[in-house]
Amino acid sequence: MEEKKVVLVTGGTRGIGKKVAERFAKEGYNLVLNYVSENTDTNALKENFKEYGNEVLILKADVSKFDECENLVKEAIAKFGKIDVLVNNAGITKDGLIAMMKEDAFDRVIDINLKGTFNMTRNVVPYMMKKRCGNIVNISSVVGVIGNAGQSNYAASKAGIIGFTKSLAKELSARNIRVNAVAPGFIDTDMTSVLTDKVKENIYAQIPLKRMGEAKEVANVVYFLSDDESSYITGQVINVDGGMVM
Ligand code: NAP
Repeated sequence: MEEKKVVLVTGGTRGIGKKVAERFAKEGYNLVLNYVSENTDTNALKENFKEYGNEVLILKADVSKFDECENLVKEAIAKFGKIDVLVNNAGITKDGLIAMMKEDAFDRVIDINLKGTFNMTRNVVPYMMKKRCGNIVNISSVVGVIGNAGQSNYAASKAGIIGFTKSLAKELSARNIRVNAVAPGFIDTDMTSVLTDKVKENIYAQIPLKRMGEAKEVANVVYFLSDDESSYITGQVINVDGGMVM
């Protein structure tokens, strides 16, 4: 029997990350799911994935801390012996206009979104290089492509992820490792549930498809970019945004 592939998803226990995990589970992957919040019910999560019959490792780690990422990857390798796909999904917002933004709001967003992507990739890539294969999908945002007033910290982190993605695609192609990014628009998750109806109406007006996206619509593209179906695609940023950015 063919050995199951392994995907590691950061922030894989809710929102887009959870839908990504479900999609990979359906495709027969073993899962390594990361989270950071103390109150995460890992038993309920394991139950959630039971129907797929895959092995699921759920590990707490703050992606902004290099040593925690190192330990997370070591535990994943100890359990499964390899990581075929890394999805750098964990992310936060701390919005504010620049004249009011506290230094900590800038640092924290960069540390989790951008440095976290480095911390995880730096620890996973040596294993992929040794196997001479692998796929990395980084979750950016349309905000990293077109900017957004009140989100300069978030936009900087997400634009940074795009530069990081393209550089690694060039660097790692010789080792048969593909690196791509997905730039979601407005997706219905906890992250966007804080928006008022009025703000949402304004956003819909900028979206040709006139609705928010669903997390599974992002997950489908993440899976496609990790699969052999997309074997000639690397260094790309795919917008999943209902046509917001063209
Ligand atoms: P979400 O529902 O708020 O979930 C965020 C996830 O990130 C959670 O699983 C959370 O873990 C994890 N996380 C946060 N800080 C972390 C840390 N320091 N270490 C490890 N994990 C951490 O957000 P989402 O909407 O699914 O967003 C997922 C990704 O898509 C993010 O990178 C976000 O920027 C991006 N994105 C979202 C949208 C959107 O409209 N929703 C649009 C564009 C891009 P816990 O559950 O443990 O807190």
